Amino acid sequence: MSRKLVLVVVDGMTPAAFERAVESGRAPALAFLAEHGDYRQATSVFPSLTPVCLSSIATGAGPGVHHIPSLVWWNRQERRIVEYGSSFAALRAAGLTQGLLDPIFNMNASHLAPEAVTIYEALEDAGLTAAAVNITCYRGRHRHQTVLPGVSRAAYGPRRFFFYGLFESDRTGAPFAVRSRRAGSIDTYAAAVGRWLVTRDGFDFLAFYLSGYDFASHAAGPDGEAAVQALEQADAAIGALLEAAGGPDEFLERYAVVLLSDHGQTSVGKAARLEEPLAGLEDQVVVAASNRAGQAYLRPGARVDAAELARRLDGFPAVDVTLRLEGDEVVARWDGADGPVEKLEHPDAGWRARSALANPNAGELLVSAAEGWELVDLGGRHHAGGGSHGSLVAGDSFVPVVTAGLQAELRRITDVAPAVLAHFGVAVPEAMEELAGVG
Ligand SMILES: [Zn+2]
Repeated sequence: MSRKLVLVVVDGMTPAAFERAVESGRAPALAFLAEHGDYRQATSVFPSLTPVCLSSIATGAGPGVHHIPSLVWWNRQERRIVEYGSSFAALRAAGLTQGLLDPIFNMNASHLAPEAVTIYEALEDAGLTAAAVNITCYRGRHRHQTVLPGVSRAAYGPRRFFFYGLFESDRTGAPFAVRSRRAGSIDTYAAAVGRWLVTRDGFDFLAFYLSGYDFASHAAGPDGEAAVQALEQADAAIGALLEAAGGPDEFLERYAVVLLSDHGQTSVGKAARLEEPLAGLEDQVVVAASNRAGQAYLRPGARVDAAELARRLDGFPAVDVTLRLEGDEVVARWDGADGPVEKLEHPDAGWRARSALANPNAGELLVSAAEGWELVDLGGRHHAGGGSHGSLVAGDSFVPVVTAGLQAELRRITDVAPAVLAHFGVAVPEAMEELAGVG
């Protein structure tokens, strides 16, 4: 029987932030895992935005398979914008309004492709017990009723399922509070649940997700002191798991570990509206942008095509690269000229572009923002003066990965799920072998 396994995802942690924390002595749990594990860098998907990335980690496949295209996108069937929002943590505070149905329920129940297989589904179908704490891609076989009174809609997650105090498969006594997110209360909740699970050894596989670092890094920038402090809080939450096993050594005796982040983050100083260079085309084009990625969708009967939209973005300083399909060919456009995507120097650009464009929910034109720029979202929000991510550039794309007790070299975040299944001797489903060998 293989050792049980804990997957820790620290949202938005860059390799530099991880290395600094380990060397500074301010993150003892991360330092212990780094010392006892193998460390490398892996690449994220495109767009490098949390819902896309977490779905990629949980399904072992890119957006071309799991179909979650971005933080905000145009649903062609329903003719409406889907907005997952940047603050999952505020879900409970805001209550279950219509807008919150997308991130809480619809992303897993209807947007996540039926053909994709989540790690929880694959493991539990093989008779193992999976647990998930706060991770936004959670689809599993077990029906869970929300603990909020008066809400009848259920969600399907793994057997042990904890989601921002909205779903709790077991009574752990963990307090949930959203009022003081800056103080890390969300990750404190995760830590309390994690401690409960490890104390009982109540799973074979645990996905443990911490969002506080990303939140602080958006506000203060990836190199700000507030981000450093947030990483210390993430470290304390991981430390709580180690302690619950009786200490770090005992933890590693009982569990194999994969620790990574979902995407990087880069400093942004300027914000622009992607709608601006496409002005006058509103009857033909829907623009959906957020953070450092954008998409343009052609409405039925549009007289322009994606190539024309790409040309319209020439010279717009917030745009680095656009991507589109011409037949089966991925065409990238940068510096005012088309070229093959393989010519781009961005990490793993070919595979990431192909998978993003293979997604039926993606726009006809995908936009990757230039260094230092952010694309204003539909609510007019941006993080100029802080940090952001979403693009193909290296800073948004590289993530730190530590593995302990797992025989695998994880080069993409999509390598996690198949490696975990292999660790447990569970057959890797075809849906996790997307575009193998491409790029
Ligand atoms: Zn994230």
